[in-house]
Amino acid sequence: MLRTHTCGALRIEHVGIPVVLTGWVQRMRDKGGLIWIDLRDRYGITQLLLEEGRSSAELIEKARTLGREFVIQAQGNVIERVSKNPKLPTGDIEIDLTNLQVLNASKIPPFTIEDETDGGEELRMKYRYLDLRRNPLKNNLLLRHKLSLETRKYLDSQEFVEIETPYLIKSTPEGARDFVVPSRMNSGEFYALPQSPQTFKQLLMVAGYDRYYQLVKCFRDEDLRADRQPEFTQIDCEMAFVEQEDVLRTFEGMMRYLFQTVKGIKLPAFPRMSYEEAMKKYGSDKPDLRFGMEFVELNRWAQGKGFGVFDQAELVVGISVPGAADYTRKQLDQLTEFVKRPQIGAKGLVYVKYNEDKTFKSSVDKFFDHEALQQWAEAFGAQPGDLMFILSGAKDTVRVQLSGLRLEMADQLGLKKPEDYKPLWVTDFPLLEWDEDTQRFHAMHHPFTAPKPEEAHLLESDPGAVHANAYDMVINGVEIGGGSIRIHDEALQKKMFSALGFSEEEAKNQFGFLMNAFQYGAPPHGGIALGFDRLAAIFAGRDSIRDFIAFPKNNAGRDVMIDSPSTISEEQLEELRLKIVKEKE
Ligand code: ASP
Repeated sequence: MLRTHTCGALRIEHVGIPVVLTGWVQRMRDKGGLIWIDLRDRYGITQLLLEEGRSSAELIEKARTLGREFVIQAQGNVIERVSKNPKLPTGDIEIDLTNLQVLNASKIPPFTIEDETDGGEELRMKYRYLDLRRNPLKNNLLLRHKLSLETRKYLDSQEFVEIETPYLIKSTPEGARDFVVPSRMNSGEFYALPQSPQTFKQLLMVAGYDRYYQLVKCFRDEDLRADRQPEFTQIDCEMAFVEQEDVLRTFEGMMRYLFQTVKGIKLPAFPRMSYEEAMKKYGSDKPDLRFGMEFVELNRWAQGKGFGVFDQAELVVGISVPGAADYTRKQLDQLTEFVKRPQIGAKGLVYVKYNEDKTFKSSVDKFFDHEALQQWAEAFGAQPGDLMFILSGAKDTVRVQLSGLRLEMADQLGLKKPEDYKPLWVTDFPLLEWDEDTQRFHAMHHPFTAPKPEEAHLLESDPGAVHANAYDMVINGVEIGGGSIRIHDEALQKKMFSALGFSEEEAKNQFGFLMNAFQYGAPPHGGIALGFDRLAAIFAGRDSIRDFIAFPKNNAGRDVMIDSPSTISEEQLEELRLKIVKEKE
């Protein structure tokens, strides 16, 4: 090694020993007779010292030629600092420099390599390798590493085997578009990159591997949001000879293990909530349980009092916001605007202030007297000082709208505490959902998900009524993962494909291999996949997954550092027998 120690290693007990350090020049301070250099590497920062009169004039001259991010090798003796820095692990000592080697110079970096940088997002993406030198990103990647290590340890301890599955495959339906790769050797034909290894992991169960896992890249060509990436990593798992309960127990166990070992947090047992209950109480299939504001349905009390908007609605439903009765007119107007934005889409917002003096002030005082509002307050379990919001409309729509308002209020009141972890399982999803655009059913999870056995007979007569043996793991309003018990019976799988509108021919073309495999002793099986990037973000109490991926894409799906996607040469196109069709002007 070109060094004896890292920049994070030296402590007071090393005083007096000669050392060689290597790293990047983070900062230099030149105060006349004294020069300090902060030398940084992955492990930390160590201060180097030069002093006129003590250090050689030649060395001082050399030090003055250094710039930010120069890579150097520094030789010297560990001495005790006169003014110590308790914030740095190496803050008790510094290095009395005796020699200095520039290993490589650096251009002035386009942004400061500090915890708080002056670089904008796009610039930092372009110079990602510089951004990755900063502590916040470095710590994220180290956390990610620790998480993957502990995940593997846990799964190994439970007899799971890591098996790689191919990336050049054929479409696996997870509800997104495929990325496709043209085949040179089979001209006119394409591979698809896996949206997940779903079919392969099921085939591994048929093959008898019993417990499989893989930390695996998945590819989905979707319109990107801040928290989505076209390629992302899943902890993908499958188990044979299990029922839903076994899968839930195994992966709840994994999450508890991870929180314990990586964060020292003991998670409680995960509550279970059916999809229906989650929608009814929170208007979301991934409820954030860090705060209350459960929905209360008010039809009984709010209808028949002459207020047409409520009278005509299928559902009148609200939340009570603790301690918000002092919201001003302006704040209430802003919230009304908030729910009217197209993203939420409500027509209006009814509020009732339950004042500290037990009087009410509402936007519907004309229709509801004190007594009526008192009934509402009781239904909500509201206390003086609380603020009730009520929306009305078609059941499914209004619930989702109120969920948006609930989350907004939690934001405004600071109730989303990042390090307060509230996990749960959401179960009993509908098997299928009706799509108005295509006028057919889609698999809510994917087409290999098993219906609840007691409802399987409805698959032909009333497909929309069938529930699935499917489950999601949710933490703090984020879907961390999902899975299901699978169909392992060829005949049932055929029925499922037909409920999804596949002709027998189409099903055979796309999934014939799986149906064939089911003819050779497929065991009952089920599994789950957890979003690994998102898990890392959650562990750090953060929202965006991008900061937990070493080289992510931007919002337009581009890697601005390597400039991809990009065009390919005429020769490549020719070889692949592809032709670019220019869009008509
Ligand atoms: N393949 C599913 C997904 O990627 C997970 C599973 O069912 O195991 O969401």
